[in-house]
Amino acid sequence: ITSAEQDVLEEIEEKDVDFLRLQFTDILGTVKNVSVPARQAEKAFTDGIYFDGSSIEGFVRIQESDMRLVPDPDTFAVLPWRNSEESASARMICDVYNTSTGEPFEGDPRYVLKQALERAEDLGYTVNAAPEPEFFLFEEDEEGRATTETNDAGGYFDLAPKDLASDVRRDIIYGLEDMGFEIEASHHEVAEGQHEINFEYDDALTTADNVGTFRTVVRAIAAEHDLHATFMPKPIPKINGSGMHTHLSLFTEDGENAFHDGDDEFDLSEEAHAFTAGILEHAPAITAISNPTVNSYKRLVPGYEAPVYIAWSDRNRSALIRKPAARIPAASRIEARFPDPSCNAYLAFAALIHAGLDGIEKGLECPDPVRENIYDFDEAKREEYGIETLPTNLGEAVDALEEDEVIYNALGDHIGQKFVQAKSQEFQDYLVDVSQWELDRYLETF
Ligand code: GLU
Ligand code: MG
Ligand code: MG
Repeated sequence: ITSAEQDVLEEIEEKDVDFLRLQFTDILGTVKNVSVPARQAEKAFTDGIYFDGSSIEGFVRIQESDMRLVPDPDTFAVLPWRNSEESASARMICDVYNTSTGEPFEGDPRYVLKQALERAEDLGYTVNAAPEPEFFLFEEDEEGRATTETNDAGGYFDLAPKDLASDVRRDIIYGLEDMGFEIEASHHEVAEGQHEINFEYDDALTTADNVGTFRTVVRAIAAEHDLHATFMPKPIPKINGSGMHTHLSLFTEDGENAFHDGDDEFDLSEEAHAFTAGILEHAPAITAISNPTVNSYKRLVPGYEAPVYIAWSDRNRSALIRKPAARIPAASRIEARFPDPSCNAYLAFAALIHAGLDGIEKGLECPDPVRENIYDFDEAKREEYGIETLPTNLGEAVDALEEDEVIYNALGDHIGQKFVQAKSQEFQDYLVDVSQWELDRYLETF
């Protein structure tokens, strides 16, 4: 048993933790739990906890259903909303192993990200990531089901009393802090009922772990206020949707920011430019992973601060990648603006990292930044600038993923296959549906 594991065992004693939730995520990014009595913690560290993976979406085929969970002691946290004087529950995030081979299970998204980070390490880099998940808070109806009624009429950075949700947001922040988050800022977003809470950047694995925790905490605490928090990318048409902008930078082994170059016009190093070029190059395929729902593509339309065109910029927010102003060299980074919070963060970060590293390995040339508002460009002007468009729906994105070896391989064959299968089916289901819009438009006309 390691000293980190020993610390966890002591904390379990001290804080009267009765139950441990061992967590992992499925391919679609849903956090799954296996709950065990806390006295099994030591056994979990030494032997792992066995579970039947066949019941988990996309995890395994029936005939190879036994999986083993091994908790990562660094992810131990007492759940704030299950914590009282006498008893408490805590969670740990786990790596999944194949019981027959003893190897890491290729169907585990966390493992996919770990492999991306290993590739970065082989090139001499560690990866830092910081996401900006946006979400809506909606009223519940009498049966406790989510509606799309917002509970406030605030706008960007509005303060109370217009921003009635600031109480809820404050409680969410306390909850996140209890779970070990460093909160950088929180504000009311552009749309009614829309919020953003930013947390401190960390290494990409910790950050991906944090995204799952973040969604769980936000939803749990909103529910205590009888509100439904949703990370659905575009719950309401014709207003801003919810993105999960992802800030990325590479650091060298001696802790220098490899993305910073003070002599460059944009303060970005050659690596940063090549990394950006790699993401631009692979953007259509990445989109299938970073924007993985039918609804994701309702957000990626012109006019709502979400990207549509494949370009980067140091100024405007219509670009796919933005270079945020950095006050200090250590903060030089790029912001991928296309991901949305319905994605599996492990897979989305892995795809972005592989794309960027591909750019570095191949020495891809980064195009010039586009400083104008690309939403205003017509097709001729886009052509003149050589600007391509993101996939316009999930079907196109999945096609792009299947054609892009770098990104498909980033997922590995196991997840790649299951992901393409699940997403193709989702798109087919959508195509055969008849929506309210169609009924409103045609039912009485024809
Ligand atoms: N909500 C916008 C989006 O869909 C982003 C607004 C912002 O710049 O924070 O990406
Ligand atoms: Mg925002
Ligand atoms: Mg942002």
